[in-house]
Amino acid sequence: MRRAGPPGPRGREGWDRALLEQPPPVEEVAIAARSPRRFEPVLGPALVRAAEGRAAELRERLGPRRVWNVNSTAVGGGVAEMLPSLLGYARWLGIDARWLVIGGEPAFFGVTKRLHHALHGSSGDGRPLGAAEREVYEAVQRHNAPQLLERVRPGDVVILHDPQTAGLAPALAEAGAVVAWRCHIGHDAVNGEVESGWSFLEPYLAEVPAYVFSRRAYVPRQLDAGRAAVIAPSIDPFSAKNEELAEETVRAILVQVGLIAGTPRAEGVSFPGADGAERSVRRPAAIVREGPPPEWGTPLVVQVSRWDPLKDPLGVIAGFRALIEQGRAGDAELVLAGPDVSSVSDDPEGQAVLEAAVSAWRALSPPLRRRIHLAQLPTDDLAENASMVNALQRHASVVVQKSLNEGFGLTVTEAMWKARPVLASAVGGIRDQIEDGVSGVLVADPSDTAAYAAALAELVGEPARAAAIGERARERVREQYLGLRHLGQYADLLERLGLW
Ligand code: UDP
Repeated sequence: MRRAGPPGPRGREGWDRALLEQPPPVEEVAIAARSPRRFEPVLGPALVRAAEGRAAELRERLGPRRVWNVNSTAVGGGVAEMLPSLLGYARWLGIDARWLVIGGEPAFFGVTKRLHHALHGSSGDGRPLGAAEREVYEAVQRHNAPQLLERVRPGDVVILHDPQTAGLAPALAEAGAVVAWRCHIGHDAVNGEVESGWSFLEPYLAEVPAYVFSRRAYVPRQLDAGRAAVIAPSIDPFSAKNEELAEETVRAILVQVGLIAGTPRAEGVSFPGADGAERSVRRPAAIVREGPPPEWGTPLVVQVSRWDPLKDPLGVIAGFRALIEQGRAGDAELVLAGPDVSSVSDDPEGQAVLEAAVSAWRALSPPLRRRIHLAQLPTDDLAENASMVNALQRHASVVVQKSLNEGFGLTVTEAMWKARPVLASAVGGIRDQIEDGVSGVLVADPSDTAAYAAALAELVGEPARAAAIGERARERVREQYLGLRHLGQYADLLERLGLW
């Protein structure tokens, strides 16, 4: 886990020059091999055998080449969520897949967060994306590039993830690596923000032979569409985040965390994971609340997200408030959960967004406050954090994802796999993930709190319909969003790179 360092003296533009000169070093994250045979009961043996056959061909063709994945955080967000599983299966299949995390510092992550917002069509903190920002961005790439080149050999494949790593492409290509760039974000419509984001990134990406986007509509005009592949993200049904949990385990975890009434155990909660590892949940969450935790029988409306304005935590609170004020919430309570804000170092906004959510909560009347819980889940131990999210999603009566934009919402697919009815905004990749009214419910306009509250009222008030939607949601994920499909598309990508 990375934490931002202490603040140093500020430069003329407000950038922290002292830290800019010394971001933390590039780190390799160890990947444990995982057997894809686990998929047999879920997908059938034929698909698993086919994947093994494909991997054997690929292994032969790759020879000694390694396949590096590079991103900017080992903790928090969708990329960090997917890589351990995908690379773990690839390693078991004999592909030398590895994961590197680049170093960064607050000024750099300020610029990359600005880029993140721009590619989502929004202005973020409103700063420009000009020469000063480019200087900061490139200074950190100059720090990271030689460290990558100590590890990456000519001929190796390097898959760079998201704007944070795009600037490394030229140095890697020059050193003889075969580079692909995967973008996990995007916006369906082009506006000035989207244009400025892509103009910033274009110089680094022009010579990259393959791009990967989550939707075809995200391929920007600045890049050669002929080099773009579309690959949707996936989840791992056997990870701590998604494995089956017995009901008593769900309950024990949520009591331990402090999200359900009960007495936590001094020794914590332990249980065997789907991969044979021992899971353990000991730490409590930091919860902003008034009054006791919900009872086990209380229906919960849950959103799990990073503390990011695009996840619209204020809208989630406003929608739940509307539901209560209309008298349509029944006994339901709201849990808005995200990671401990001090832990996700490439997301500098977390603290401010959490504070805004807490202020919105404080402004409510006491009876409303008693039914809304804001939880920061500890991330000191990633498997523990994953088990907490798993239990919370499984226990939810309705999972919401009220995002204002979303390249692809992993939390949506995670909850669908748990047969939860999901209510989400009809934005970005979520429109592919959920078939409205069939495997979830979509709200057409993400800023329409009244429509969101009305749709929520129906799901809370009609448990049989909600359950049927949940069952179809699980089936949709089984068919489309599990890791084996994803690995097959990565194999296609390697073939496109013309390595052989
Ligand atoms: N997540 C987590 N712990 C938290 C909050 C979020 O593990 O406290 C995970 C969540 O379960 C999901 C990922 O972070 O796997 C977020 O991915 P998503 O695509 O939903 O959004 P992103 O953060 O990439 O914008």
